[in-house]
Parts: sequence; structure tokens; C-alpha cells
Amino acid sequence: MIKKPFFSMGAPRLKYPVVKRPDPGFDSIPLPERVTVYIKRPLSPAVEGLIQAGERVKTGSRLFFDDEGSCFLSPVTGTIASLDEFAGYMDTRYTSVTIETASDEEVHEDIKGLSSVFSPENAAAFLADLPGSPDFKSFLKRKEPYEAIIVEGVDDDLLIRVNQAVLEGELKDVLEGIQILKKLTGVEQVYISALPSSSLRMKSGDVDVIEVSEQYPSALPEMIMKNKLKRVVPAGKKCSDSGVGFIKAEAVASLAKLINKGEVPVYKVVTVIDKKGSARNLRVRIGTKVCDILSHLGISTSYGDRIIAGGPMRGKSIYSEDMPVLWDTDAIMVQPGREITPCHDTPCINCGECVRACPANIPVNMLIRLLENRLYEMAVSEYDLLSCIECGLCSYVCVARIPLFQYIMLGKNEYLKLKSSEGSNV
Ligand code: SF4
Ligand code: SF4
Repeated sequence: MIKKPFFSMGAPRLKYPVVKRPDPGFDSIPLPERVTVYIKRPLSPAVEGLIQAGERVKTGSRLFFDDEGSCFLSPVTGTIASLDEFAGYMDTRYTSVTIETASDEEVHEDIKGLSSVFSPENAAAFLADLPGSPDFKSFLKRKEPYEAIIVEGVDDDLLIRVNQAVLEGELKDVLEGIQILKKLTGVEQVYISALPSSSLRMKSGDVDVIEVSEQYPSALPEMIMKNKLKRVVPAGKKCSDSGVGFIKAEAVASLAKLINKGEVPVYKVVTVIDKKGSARNLRVRIGTKVCDILSHLGISTSYGDRIIAGGPMRGKSIYSEDMPVLWDTDAIMVQPGREITPCHDTPCINCGECVRACPANIPVNMLIRLLENRLYEMAVSEYDLLSCIECGLCSYVCVARIPLFQYIMLGKNEYLKLKSSEGSNV
């Protein structure tokens, strides 16, 4: 996402941050007056039949559930103020639910008694959206269980310290969550990925640790598959297609807290990175608006600054401080306008930097020519568009400041849309 120089860095510093000691706990912020959540369904009579403006909800009430058992829990107790349609990244359409929070918090009855009735059969009804957004559908609905599950204890972008901090500070919950995960999925082999410096090495007991290098992007799932499990994920496929499931440490800890302690999974740990590049972790209620977080931390923004949801390499700019923290929001980063290196429409000078940087060995310099001309199918067949692991390194090194990563993400999205429309015309 961000091109160099980033936070005035003279030279690339592409190592993961290291959380060296058990986190004493995460700072939190006061419960906001309103929260907003985005349900991954367009606003429709089906959604409106389940929830309506004016309705009172409890913390843990199901806001939406579909035939396959996916559900979205209310992160607060309060009254639904409005339902709206929200168009997100790459034309994704959501239902936006805004809830006015009440001070007298009540937990929904279904959650209170959950541990006694929780089973692999009804798990999906509660686990569609844990913090970290695990894809439980793929975990629970497979004909054959995964060969292995990897609990991600290292975050997938630079500067972010969410999963490392959870691993250091909430290891007991992570280990208990792994036991629940094993029972739910029938998978015996569960690894935790960690940096060499992690204290997990010393206290892992009988947990299998996969050590990943501090060098970005070694903690990305495809890199772990290639470098540690010696399997290359084929182009256009996911790690799950190769029989390995990935899940964030935060999601696993939340699973244990939900089942063993009855804690509703309504908090998200977020790394907030200010204009000077200082990062700190906060635990916030899901649905909290970015403006509430920035205001609590005394971070002000001015015209020209950029706010990014996610990390510097893979994050996405957001256009409004009213955007909420969702289940998969790992970081909020504020980049001062004066340090933003603008993208240019200058042509590629064929320096080859992007090709040298690409861990997937994609000829990015050739790929970009096709993407600029919207030749998406050819980009897939000729230059391996679908092999991209979305690390953002090509954009970072591009001397011509071409927004390569954005072109690639757009190209993938357009290609998949093309394929699905062709499929539906058959
Ligand atoms: S094409 Fe760019 S974003 Fe994709 S894997 Fe290569 S360097 Fe990373
Ligand atoms: S780094 Fe940029 S300028 Fe250099 S070859 Fe790649 S796309 Fe072209």
C-alpha cells in the first residue's frame, strides 16, 4: 500500500516488529455511544426480517444468521438505530447496522449457557465471526479434516503486533482454544507459527512451533507452506485446498474464552500506528469508529493525511474516520500527508526491482503492462496473476511509483468477476 520512503525511513526496514515480553494486558477505551457493524450480506428483506431499527439487542444477540449457520453477534447491548446498505472494497455490498449502546449491558442467554451445549454440530452458529475472522465454514464443513492447522502467532503485515501480543499475553487461552479446535475439527496436528525471539519457544511444552523468520513476508500462509511445509500452493488455490487450515492466534484465544468462560467475542485487539510511526495495542469493542479511537489517543488528522485499515504493505486506505473496527481490522495507521509519496502515471522503466522483490517469482514488470490495459485473462494465463500472494513488496520497491499492488488486487477481482459471470451464463 505504502511506497517508500515510509515514515521517513532511509532504507527499507522490512522486518516484523518483535513483542518480546508477555503483554501486561491491552489498554481499552470507553464504550462508544454508537457502534456500527457490517454484515457480509446486502441489505435485503431477508436481513430486515431478522433485525429492524428500533429493536433492542443484547450483547451476543444474533444480528443475522443464514441457512448455513453463519451468524453475526451484536457487540453491545442497545437499540438498533439504523440499517443501511454499504458498498465496500471491490464492490462488496454489506448491511451496515448501527446500534446505540446502552449502559446496562446484558449478555444474551444463548451465550451464557453455551459451554454446556456447544458441539461440532452447532459451532457454526456462534463462530462465523470471531475476532480475526477465521473461516470456520471451511474448518467445519470439510468432508475430510485438514491434515494440519496452523495457528498464526505472527501478524501478516509490518508494524502490526496483534497476534504476537495475544500469543505472549494469552498463551493459556490459545492452548485451550487449540484443544477445542481439535475436538471441533478432528484435526490432530496443530502448529503455532512464531518468531525465533518468541518466548513461546521456552514454554511451548507439547505444542509444535513453526519458527518463521523475522523477514517480511515469511509469516504469510503461502510462505509458511512453501518454506516450512515444503508445499507450493498452486496458482489460484488457497492453502485450504492443499489440506492446511490457517487461523489467527487471536481467534483461537477468543474461542477458548467463549466456550470456557462465556465471554462474548466482541473485542478486537487493534494496533494503532500514529503519524510518527509509534505503535500501540488497544482492545476495542467491535464496531467502534476510527474517530473514537483516534480521539481517545489524542491523534488528530488534517487535510492530506491518510488513514489506513491494516498495515503498511497490505492495508487499504479508508475515506472516513466513521469507518468502524471490524472482526478483521488488525491495525489503524495514520500517515501524515507530507510523507505520502504520490503514485505516478509514469511508465515502467523496466528496472526489474519488482521482479527481484517478488517472493512468488512473478514477472511483475510484464504483468503490469497487461493489467494497465485490462487484459485480465491474459494476465492470468501469461504472467501468473493468480500466483500473487499479496505481499505488496513490488509496490514498495517500484521506482516509477506505479501502484502495482492496487493494479494486482483490482486485476484479481476483475478476473474472478469475469469467471463467475461466464459460469452463470453456461
Ligand atoms: S506480485 Fe507483488 S504483491 Fe504479488 S507476490 Fe509478487 S511482490 Fe508480492
Ligand atoms: S519496479 Fe516499477 S519501474 Fe521497475 S520494472 Fe517494476 S514496475 Fe517497472
